[in-house]
Amino acid sequence: MDIIVQKFGGTSLSDEQSRRHVLRHILRENRAGRSVVVVVSAMGRRGEPYATDTLLDLVSQNGGTLPTRERDLLLSCGELISAATLCSLLNSEGLPSVVLTGGQAGIVTDDRYGAARIVKINTDSIVQHLTEGRIVVVTGFQGMTPEGEITTLGRGGSDTSATALGAALGAVVVDIYTDVDGILTADPRWVSNARHLPVVSYEEISNMAQNGAKVIHPRAVEVAMKAGVPIRVRSTFSDSEGTLVTRGESLRNGGVWTDRTVTGLAHVSGVTQLSVVDENGPADLQMRVFRTMAKNGISVDLINVMPTGVYYTVSKNDTPSAIQLLSELDFKPQVREGCAKVSVIGGGMNGEPGVMAVIVEALTNAGIRILQSADSNTTIWVLISEADLAPALEALHTAFGLHLS
Ligand code: ADP
Ligand code: ASP
Ligand code: MG
Repeated sequence: MDIIVQKFGGTSLSDEQSRRHVLRHILRENRAGRSVVVVVSAMGRRGEPYATDTLLDLVSQNGGTLPTRERDLLLSCGELISAATLCSLLNSEGLPSVVLTGGQAGIVTDDRYGAARIVKINTDSIVQHLTEGRIVVVTGFQGMTPEGEITTLGRGGSDTSATALGAALGAVVVDIYTDVDGILTADPRWVSNARHLPVVSYEEISNMAQNGAKVIHPRAVEVAMKAGVPIRVRSTFSDSEGTLVTRGESLRNGGVWTDRTVTGLAHVSGVTQLSVVDENGPADLQMRVFRTMAKNGISVDLINVMPTGVYYTVSKNDTPSAIQLLSELDFKPQVREGCAKVSVIGGGMNGEPGVMAVIVEALTNAGIRILQSADSNTTIWVLISEADLAPALEALHTAFGLHLS
């Protein structure tokens, strides 16, 4: 049995016309003789009736008083409405189908409500339905604890449901259908001439996703990479092949690997830069700062430790508590809110001289100030003001020739 997993995102399911496109992709694979498992997200985006953000808005005015268990029960409804709607369309077209919730599909998670991890998948039920000739529609983004409690996997988690099912079922491929034509060199909402990438390695897209490229969830890539299941990211609204995500090694051996220094750009906004610098401060200043952040569950990023103090970033949401904790330690942090972190990503930049020079030159020529930077062997990060984000992305995209094929 050749199994294919097809995951459809919210915008692909939001109206009748979009669902017709979804139907077309399912029909094509079904006619090709493949057993089809469909994973769906909740329909549409904030403001549309059953979108995840709309469901959250229903209870937000009550000041976050809904317990996390009940919050997950609420959130799981979006995907269920989507799945049942698609099932009715499939059945009306003469395609027998069945809806399974995450739990019914055998997805077992831990009990971290809102950020649950999949611990195992029992595929018996899905396989049984596929064997009996049904298309199986699974609600994405959710699972069930061994005690039978419904959990959700964190925002964007339907991608992870799809790759985890693909891995457990030994699928030939997991297709992630969305509203863009695959993975591009940058977010097309920010860079007008972002270019389509026909093929990328798991490592490259994992790096882009971890650095804010929303096109696929980083955990979904991690799961597929571990199992060696190929992913294709493609558009619901066209027949183009999209982007194939596979092993870097197999790309090189197959001769299709393009030796690119920089593959793409990603970014995160809503970042705050904190600096605690005091020439006459205590000898253990650095340790005190990071120990307090860690103890209070505040995630820190872009860390620069110097003899006189530290620079680091936190998310917008964590900013008030980070400032409060630092003042309780008697430190007077300098706070710069409204920053964005831009990542220049490429497996080929390792040992390649001149990449930082291109970045600094491009941003300087565009009149953009770099507030902080850091690097690894595959990524260079620069912190800039959020107001400079669009021109910075355009300038870097052009400077690295990412618009050229
Ligand atoms: P879905 O609802 O289908 O899961 P998402 O909004 O989660 O869709 O992801 C698709 C969006 O990801 C695109 O509309 C695009 O704006 C954004 N995106 C960010 N970075 C990239 C990138 N490098 N390539 C393609 N799309 C990207
Ligand atoms: N509906 C969920 C969300 O909006 C899961 C997903 O779309 O992947 O986060
Ligand atoms: Mg998504």
